[in-house]
Amino acid sequence: MVVEQITDSTKLSHFQQLIHRSSTPMIIMERSAFIDVNIAAKTLFQLSPEVEVTALAPHQLSPKTQSCGKSSLHKSQYFITKALHKGECKFSWRMLDAKGVQKDISVQLICLSHAKQSLFLAVISEHISIAHNYTNQFIDKALDLISDAIMLTDENNRIYYVNHAFEKITGYSFDEAYQKPAGFMKSGIHDHGFYQRLWQSLEQTGTWQGEIWDKHKEGHIYPKHVRITSLEQQDTKSPHFLAVFADCDEKVKYQQQLTKLAYYDDLTNLPNRKLLMDTLEKHIHEVNTADCQYGFWLGYFDIDDFKVINDSKGHGFGDKVIKEVLSLLSNLSCDSDMVGRMGGDEFLIIFSRRKDITQIRQVLETIYQRLAQPVYIDDMQYQVRLSGGLCQYPFHGKNAEELLSKADIAMYQAKKSEGNRYTLFETEIGDAFARSNNIELSLQNAIRNKAITPYFQPKISMQKGQLIGFESLARWQQNGQFISPAEFIPIAEKSGQISQLSLCLANQSLSMLKWFRASGDYTLAINISAKELADYDFPKALFALTETHQIPASKIEIEITESCLIDNFTNVRRQLEVLKSMQFKIALDDFGTGYSSLNYLKELSFDTIKIDRSFIHKLEHNRKNDFILLNTIIELAHNLGATVVAEGVENVEQIDFLKRFKCDFAQGFFYAKAMSFSETQKYIKHHNEFFKIAKNEH
Ligand code: C2E
Ligand code: CA
Ligand code: CA
Repeated sequence: MVVEQITDSTKLSHFQQLIHRSSTPMIIMERSAFIDVNIAAKTLFQLSPEVEVTALAPHQLSPKTQSCGKSSLHKSQYFITKALHKGECKFSWRMLDAKGVQKDISVQLICLSHAKQSLFLAVISEHISIAHNYTNQFIDKALDLISDAIMLTDENNRIYYVNHAFEKITGYSFDEAYQKPAGFMKSGIHDHGFYQRLWQSLEQTGTWQGEIWDKHKEGHIYPKHVRITSLEQQDTKSPHFLAVFADCDEKVKYQQQLTKLAYYDDLTNLPNRKLLMDTLEKHIHEVNTADCQYGFWLGYFDIDDFKVINDSKGHGFGDKVIKEVLSLLSNLSCDSDMVGRMGGDEFLIIFSRRKDITQIRQVLETIYQRLAQPVYIDDMQYQVRLSGGLCQYPFHGKNAEELLSKADIAMYQAKKSEGNRYTLFETEIGDAFARSNNIELSLQNAIRNKAITPYFQPKISMQKGQLIGFESLARWQQNGQFISPAEFIPIAEKSGQISQLSLCLANQSLSMLKWFRASGDYTLAINISAKELADYDFPKALFALTETHQIPASKIEIEITESCLIDNFTNVRRQLEVLKSMQFKIALDDFGTGYSSLNYLKELSFDTIKIDRSFIHKLEHNRKNDFILLNTIIELAHNLGATVVAEGVENVEQIDFLKRFKCDFAQGFFYAKAMSFSETQKYIKHHNEFFKIAKNEH
């Protein structure tokens, strides 16, 4: 059928007269309302010839949904848009007559331009062209069956067609998406530049493809790989667009799983080290680019004595404590702060940029108040103690690593004072850190060049006053200044250089002891730290040294402190048994300073107990209880078959008490400080001469 383009009202009325004479059902309509319906069409719709139809719309003479399941309203609008752009379109339609009967008809919709109005002529055929009907139905079915989502937008970039896969992937039905702007699912993840580049590519090449993160109807964000093609229209300047994207449901789940694995901690489900570090970098970048004068604060936290919790109550219990503390931290801090686990019992809070130190103190106050109450684990009460350190970007560090180390230093400062509190990083602490860093760096050279050497402090028998042996104490002189072993030994432990240092010291002290033993049957006590004792090869290596220097192992006493026993008790017990089987003697150093010295006395047998010098110094206060305590410790040690050494003896009064309490041996400045090899040789000489004279005098 050829239809003339109608451009004026006279022509329209001629046209109307023409269709009224036709026996083919025809309707003239504007975009969405009927203008005229011929008798044949009225008959088809079971309408009486007089009925006024001008206000009716096509979907009102149709069931709510079409055979494909889409709403008649939206589908009719789709075909109108199509006819408007193509000139005409043919499709099958399910109509509803006035008596409520549904019928499938064929429609040819022709666009007639009339002044500024868009007029359409719908030519209806009851004899559906089977081929045409099938084609339409098949295309509809085919589009709905494919798993790729299809979306068509008009020249205003509004959606007029989506298939079934679109509904499944995005969560929006055809009706919900219809006439929405193409970008209505934007997630906000992509910036303005991203969309600018997309449009530029569409304009220049007619296509774009890439990954877009959109927002699902249910609110989550998901990625999809989208291909957009521009469909040029003959009579409009603006093109339509066809967007096709794949079902990424599985990909999304997989990606979510990957994200969880990579960025969240298994135990607590909170951010892990990686996510915390990434966020820290992001915050730093934001501060740098925002050109703002405010930085942000960072808090590093660690549970006090967590090792003891783990060892005494088991790792399962330890895990529960970590979980409990972290959930408490994350519940009590604000959503804008990030709380996560760096590893072990170490946690981090990255405070939001808007928070100043007063607000942070308030948050921490709440946390510490809550921690003052016990937490319940397996129906048991447990009192958690937490130490923390705070520092601020950019004032305390230039990058994430520096910041973390500063917060860590401040946290250790809190632990060192009394624990269960937090401190702010201060520059003086930073200087101490720099010093320890320098020590660590020069340690390797010092070990290699034997700049660290043993000094010897005499051990004296209390009853006879005779020299019976020495304790070897490490000395390191750098630029004329002594660095205390109390400072560099923990650094050597931390940096993994302790075994090398200890064996180097033991080798030196045993070779020197050989010289001393030429003048007497002296013993040597060496200090061994926790890490070294745990080293499986240590007993064998030490034994090999005694053989090299031909000194009986029974003349060597290994001093260990309680801290050696806390870490992995079973392993330490085994190591001590190996050492004993090699005839080495074992001494418990600094007795009385730890928490559970008595417990260890019950579990292990020691050859010697060294009473910490703090007990000896207390004697000066002349308090009855101090005397009773010291006396009891000595008796207890003797009953367990151990000899007793008093440390830090500085005056005659102390010696008198110790003699009265039957203490076996003593060390301290009263007799001598730790001395170098040559000083020790001289000391031995004088000592022996003194005893020879004393013996002769008797
Ligand atoms: P420690 O084993 O308790 O050693 C005794 C410390 O007390 C030594 O300090 C010693 O110089 C000091 N001292 C001795 N007599 C007196 C006294 O009458 N009054 C006072 N106020 N102090 C006295 P030093 O040499 O600074 O050693 C400190 C700690 O470093 C040692 O404590 C020991 O735990 C550790 N250490 C020293 N040398 C070594 C070593 O070669 N290996 C290991 N692993 N640790 C060592
Ligand atoms: Ca010692
Ligand atoms: Ca000691």
